Amino acid sequence: MFLPARETQNARQKFEERVSADGRFASYARGRLSYFLGRQVLTFIGAAILGFLVSPQLGFAALLVALFGEAVDCFTLRAFVRRGNYGRRAQQASIATAAVQATTISICVWLGWCATSGPEARFFAVVYMCGAVINAGLVYPFHRRATEARLVVYIFAIASLFAMDGLTGRGSQGQLIFDFLATLMLGYMAYTFIRFVLRSHNKRIVMERDLIRRQHMLDQSFQTLEARAREARQLAMVAANANDSVIVTDREGRIEYTNASFTRVSGYTAEEALGQLPADLLNSPNTDTEAIAAIFKARDIHEPVRMELINRTKSGEDIWVETNITPMVDDDGVVQGEVAIERDITQAKRREKELADAKTAAEEGARAKAQFLAMVSHEIRTPLNGIIGMSDVLLSGSLQKDQRETVQTILSSGEALLTIINDILDLSKLEAGKMEIETIPFDLRAQLQGALALVHPLAEEKGLALSLTFDDLPADEFLGDPGRVRQVFLNLMGNAIKFTKSGGVSARVSIATGPQGDEIRIAVQDTGIGIPEDRLAHIFAAFAQADGATTRHFGGTGLGLAISRQLARQMGGDIDVTSAPGQGSCFTLRFRTQAAASAHKAATCKATAGIAGIPADIRILVADDNRTNRLLLGKLLDKVKPGLIFAVDGIEAVEKFRSEGPDLILMDMSMPRCDGIEATRLIREIEALEPAPAVPILALTANAFASDRDRCLEAGMDGFLTKPIRRRDLFAAIAEFAPDQSQTDRATTALKTAAL
Ligand code: ADP
Repeated sequence: MFLPARETQNARQKFEERVSADGRFASYARGRLSYFLGRQVLTFIGAAILGFLVSPQLGFAALLVALFGEAVDCFTLRAFVRRGNYGRRAQQASIATAAVQATTISICVWLGWCATSGPEARFFAVVYMCGAVINAGLVYPFHRRATEARLVVYIFAIASLFAMDGLTGRGSQGQLIFDFLATLMLGYMAYTFIRFVLRSHNKRIVMERDLIRRQHMLDQSFQTLEARAREARQLAMVAANANDSVIVTDREGRIEYTNASFTRVSGYTAEEALGQLPADLLNSPNTDTEAIAAIFKARDIHEPVRMELINRTKSGEDIWVETNITPMVDDDGVVQGEVAIERDITQAKRREKELADAKTAAEEGARAKAQFLAMVSHEIRTPLNGIIGMSDVLLSGSLQKDQRETVQTILSSGEALLTIINDILDLSKLEAGKMEIETIPFDLRAQLQGALALVHPLAEEKGLALSLTFDDLPADEFLGDPGRVRQVFLNLMGNAIKFTKSGGVSARVSIATGPQGDEIRIAVQDTGIGIPEDRLAHIFAAFAQADGATTRHFGGTGLGLAISRQLARQMGGDIDVTSAPGQGSCFTLRFRTQAAASAHKAATCKATAGIAGIPADIRILVADDNRTNRLLLGKLLDKVKPGLIFAVDGIEAVEKFRSEGPDLILMDMSMPRCDGIEATRLIREIEALEPAPAVPILALTANAFASDRDRCLEAGMDGFLTKPIRRRDLFAAIAEFAPDQSQTDRATTALKTAAL
């Protein structure tokens, strides 16, 4: 029978308690009490023999004496048993009572001995005494001291009786010697018996202890075995009921177990799979050979491996599985096989692909949208170029008042349309993450003052005070994107002027040091209509306005702030707003910057430069495939018309450069046959062969991207003019690059031209 560990432990404890001194004494006491009657049989027989041999009175007296001894001993032991007191003092007391009990037995023997005159009673006495000795010897292992006390009393009694007979001369000498020798023999037998009792008791204890120990070990082994069996059962249940396929292979790599999921996923029953190599059974021609090689390699070095690969089912369908293969190592570290857990991830793979396709399609859509917008914006810019340019031309001539007003309206409508196109283009680029932000040194003060000059007429028209103040700035030049800073500043200023009827608009520029470095802050404060608190968060959304009715009155598309905020964020900052309806608003543009180390000369806005700044005899080559543009440039530059040469494409531009030797070239970027970039390269190659100074080439383009400007400069152009071309910008650029200027000046200002 197998006992739980706790029970064997208890049995062990009980055993040890039983064989301890106290335990043995307890057994002694209880044994003496329970065998009381058995012992009295001997007492009665002895008394009866005495009564028969000597006299009934003597027999009775001996019985009383013997019973008295027993009573003293047993009553004392009973008291201890009742109280459960088996301690040292109880043991000592029981030695005394044992001696008393042995003494009463000795008295009985002595009575019988003395009451007979012949030596015949001696034999009876010796035998009776021997019985008492054996009786005492029986409990020797349980209470040695008590037994020893009894033996001492018995030996003393019998020895004294023999001595007495020897002295009194009872019986013959030979009889005495014979009896004495017989007594010695009996004594020796009693001694052997007691020794035997003691030995067998000790042996029994050793055996019992060993048995208990073995039982304990057996129980432990059984419990371990049972735990393992339980674990094995649980594992088998897990494997059988797992949702994933479980494949166990032997040392040769052959399948020796598969679960129900394996059959469900692969279509193969366990019987079909047994003994097969997984690769033979499950690989498909589409399974990645590198994945298979990695699995074999992991097997060779007994390493676990995780893979995603294609399996082929019994029905011939390819499925994706994620497989986890782990070597099974026994207690001695020997690999006994492998366990592979496979999960069907076909659906997940399908979804992954769908998502990737959707993402590609979305990216493709966004790209197509950006491309479409870029194309549309380019296409619209070209006729706008004509509208705005021609309006400019008309306004520069003499017109009647109403005619001037009409042309002015055409011009401002064209400009409004241009703003919308630019905004939509910017927004689409921001959304597609394609907005390019520059980090170049620029003069912040000059940039903002130039922008302020542009909005000044609007403020003046409404009678608004306009101011721009600078707190202490550590430098004039800062790193950043001047074009974008100016764009956002203009938007904030434009809005502030637009939404303010009286009072004024003030802009304040400061620098602050935040955790991420220096930050420029431009706060534009107005005294306008203000924005209700609950609309503040919305005005930064595209096409959103604070209040449809009010803003309809002021006009606008609701794109400006959306673009400005995204630009500010791309520049490492943001736009914050505080406002009180009826009192005004404060928009603060923040962007990260650094004071520029090198002192770059700032571009000066030559908006005021006029035709007077252009040398009268200058010969300008205009290369543009668009007739309207050529016409426009002809009109804008009518004062230098004799010096104007036209080319309709890049090839003609190169030819005219050769044949006419112009002083300056205005080169459209996109032209048939040979575009502006290519034509510029060819011209620079020709120039490289001649000692004459290089002719300045200014790009004319509807694409206002930094990348276009870089391409132009890379091809050897000197400047950059964005369509629609404004009269003042054109004059300023020509004045800047006209050949009387030194080459050094050109190089310094070339980069800045785009900002004009
Ligand atoms: P738009 O001005 O073209 O409508 P914006 O994106 O620049 O577009 O501005 C969004 C809206 O935010 C405006 O229509 C207006 O309602 C509100 N707003 C912007 N600036 C101001 C301002 N300075 N004062 C009051 N409202 C403003």
